Amino acid sequence: METLIAYFETIPSSHRSIILISGITFFWLLEYGVPLFKFNYKKFKHARPNIFFTLTTIIVNFVLAFILLKTSDWVVVHNFGVLQWLEMPLWATILVGLLLLDLIGAWLAHWVQHKIKPLWMFHLIHHTDNHVDTTTANRHHPGESVVRFVFTTLGVFIGGVPIGIVLLYQSLSVVFSQFNHANIKLPKKLDTVISWIIVSPDMHKVHHHYVLPYTDTNYGNIFSVWDRFFGTFSKMRNEDLIYGVDTYPDVDSNTHIGKLLKIPFSRYRAPKGAKFEQ
Ligand SMILES: [Zn+2]
Repeated sequence: METLIAYFETIPSSHRSIILISGITFFWLLEYGVPLFKFNYKKFKHARPNIFFTLTTIIVNFVLAFILLKTSDWVVVHNFGVLQWLEMPLWATILVGLLLLDLIGAWLAHWVQHKIKPLWMFHLIHHTDNHVDTTTANRHHPGESVVRFVFTTLGVFIGGVPIGIVLLYQSLSVVFSQFNHANIKLPKKLDTVISWIIVSPDMHKVHHHYVLPYTDTNYGNIFSVWDRFFGTFSKMRNEDLIYGVDTYPDVDSNTHIGKLLKIPFSRYRAPKGAKFEQ
């Protein structure tokens, strides 16, 4: 356990890139073998904007990384935050650290983006994908990447999380997100069983259904406990799923990088189900 944390404390950027690329490659191949939907799409062409937004996400996080490092150093030196206040064995410290980062840095960050209109305008880009697959995982507008970074930093601050656990969480987060976005079909029983602990592919797909109220459910990233706890857990049959957002139905525009980048600065379109106060 100590070795694991020691490794993540100093994980080289190259190793983080290998994790990301291996994950995409693994699930990409699995999508050929056990697809959930037989999409009538060009897989490589569809991946282009998603890879672009994955790269901008990496750049944003790389540029801001020093803030995360400084915050983590500060909480450890000043003995501040939940993990610093609790005396726990290492395994429990890691588990609680991962849970807290998942709650504040991912679940809360995601929930807030569905509830605050200007933030939703950035998060929309993620939801406009009409063919959700493993490449959709990091399809985030650079503005959304900044929002998520702020919440991750907040999670590190409140949680008092040492950098080894932060980087372990981020590496796990990449792979889990690729897994639950992947266009793969697990045996229904298996999907249901794992959804009691982690966000399963079927669970997250509901979040990508094109209309409310489903869009506003299943916000979880790694652990499914937060949606169950906050009452935002929902189920839907796979065969009833329609990916995308009702307000952005044009499939061609939804693969156009320039148009996607401009969405947050365009006029707000009200969804069919009332989502925000007009
Ligand atoms: Zn969302």
